[in-house]
Amino acid sequence: MIKNDTLRNVLYVDLTRKSFHTEDRSDLFDKYLGGSGVAIKLLEEECPQGADPLGPENPIIMAVGPLTSLYPLASKTVAMFKSPHTGNLGESHAGGRSAVSIRMAGYGAIVIKGASERPCYISISGNKVYFRDASTLWGMGKSENVGKVIRANEPSSGLRTIMRIGIAGEKLIPYACVTTETYRHFGRLGLGAVFGSKKLKAIAVAGKRSLPVVDKKQYGKLYESIFSRATESPVMKKYHEIGTPVNVIPLNESGGLPTRNLQSARFEQAEMISGERIAQQCLGKRLACAHCPVACIHIAALREPYEDEPYFYKTSMIGYDYELIFACGSLLGGSDVSGMLTLLDSIESYGLDSMSAGVVLAWATELFDKGVISERETNGVRLRWGDYASYLKALQYIVEQPTDFYTALSKGVDHASAIYGGQEYALAFGGNEMPGYHTGPACHIGYLAGARHSHLDGAGYAVDKKLMVNKAMTPEAVAAEVIAEERWRQILSSLVICFFARDLYTPEVIIEALKLSGFDFNEDALRKIGEEIHTEKFRFKIREGFSFDALRVPKRIFETRSSVGMLDEQFIKTAMEYVKNEILSKVG
Ligand code: SF4
Repeated sequence: MIKNDTLRNVLYVDLTRKSFHTEDRSDLFDKYLGGSGVAIKLLEEECPQGADPLGPENPIIMAVGPLTSLYPLASKTVAMFKSPHTGNLGESHAGGRSAVSIRMAGYGAIVIKGASERPCYISISGNKVYFRDASTLWGMGKSENVGKVIRANEPSSGLRTIMRIGIAGEKLIPYACVTTETYRHFGRLGLGAVFGSKKLKAIAVAGKRSLPVVDKKQYGKLYESIFSRATESPVMKKYHEIGTPVNVIPLNESGGLPTRNLQSARFEQAEMISGERIAQQCLGKRLACAHCPVACIHIAALREPYEDEPYFYKTSMIGYDYELIFACGSLLGGSDVSGMLTLLDSIESYGLDSMSAGVVLAWATELFDKGVISERETNGVRLRWGDYASYLKALQYIVEQPTDFYTALSKGVDHASAIYGGQEYALAFGGNEMPGYHTGPACHIGYLAGARHSHLDGAGYAVDKKLMVNKAMTPEAVAAEVIAEERWRQILSSLVICFFARDLYTPEVIIEALKLSGFDFNEDALRKIGEEIHTEKFRFKIREGFSFDALRVPKRIFETRSSVGMLDEQFIKTAMEYVKNEILSKVG
């Protein structure tokens, strides 16, 4: 690392004592780069074994990387914590202005420990940290409003991010999210509840500085080449124009779009919720994370009449992407775009993870449909496929919890199905609700094998594409590809590179960019670091009770035809045996 690079600074904040200090942790950044690599080491240091995820001893770690603010699309912040949703590794990535603001404030990572007695928010401005009373913000619904109030109270210069929770986080719902810049989220695994347990409503970070590079001329050249490839690449163009919802139609056509709680993987009304259709009907604006020329974030402008003012309309701006359309569209059997957007808006207001919320509602609908539960459990709500009025009510009850059934739903499908039955169609893997792909065995192997139980870990859906062509691929070969991809992605997430840019940031580009920031690694060394970070994550998971043998595979995935046909249970078992042996042999 270059001598005067402030990346080495880790800011430690203690909410109990309302104190803070900074430490030089170049030992971690020199070895693990930043992001996921540094965050897992800090989590190991700061989180005592067996810590209560909602107790003051569970730390929140936020880390960025050496390329942040220097290169396009190195725009993510990695948050790490012990997850209240799965009880082991919590890791979530978000963009917006978070990463650039942390780097500009002069830090490579922030560690937040302890808990405040009263609601508070932290304002970090360069080397100053202020602990502010947030009593008046506690209970405030829309995260947009929380952001507005904090913005007005914290006039800071430079780039600023405001990361905040909604009521779901305050109520410790284990799949509550943290929202940053209104439309970006640390969505998965319950960071919002960890904030809530610390009575931490928000973190604002601001700063301004210039960053050192080894050779300005070379830096300019490399920057230019990454930037132009980012703007000229057809894939990025596609993400800019339609965004990830461009995948709705191809996934549906291939038979991989989970529909009605995965009773089918084809949705007969997919065209109605396609990215193209939504863009034509109501695309309001496109946004970008800081320092990204792609702008893949799509915001719908939903225009609705006021009930008692027929000629008067209100316009709501609502973010949407592929995963949200899957979770709150096809998975709920819904093709009414206004209804879907209204549900997404409500999920956003409460501050819940949309994917978990959609999967929970879909499971409850099937339970109701099958007569396993009645209006007695649902507090009078008649859950029906595609009925958004009933979903809005059920969502409200998940947050308010007027009956035991909603309390169970508020803890996720694994928990609720253990009480009410229907485990065979409770779509969670490793405790985390399912993402939007039923493309073949590899996507499910990816959810099971991934450290975060996310489609973004090992991108199994991409391996399923290969399986469509090469049906002879063995379970071991599939598992090996998923693990190899996840290990390489540890390098990307340690450099906090947006995964959409993974083809731009080839090993050669990464080596060159790191060199200009004072790091000297060849490809072999990088791959070794990736493997080490991956192993460390599993070491933490296993330390906190994770077991491959306890992983539950929902039977439903074997009952519904995928893009490559019906799935073979033995194929997935054999692949998971390979994953287990490979990972445990490294963990030791
Ligand atoms: S491609 Fe999209 S998600 Fe990735 S950094 Fe750019 S705007 Fe953010």
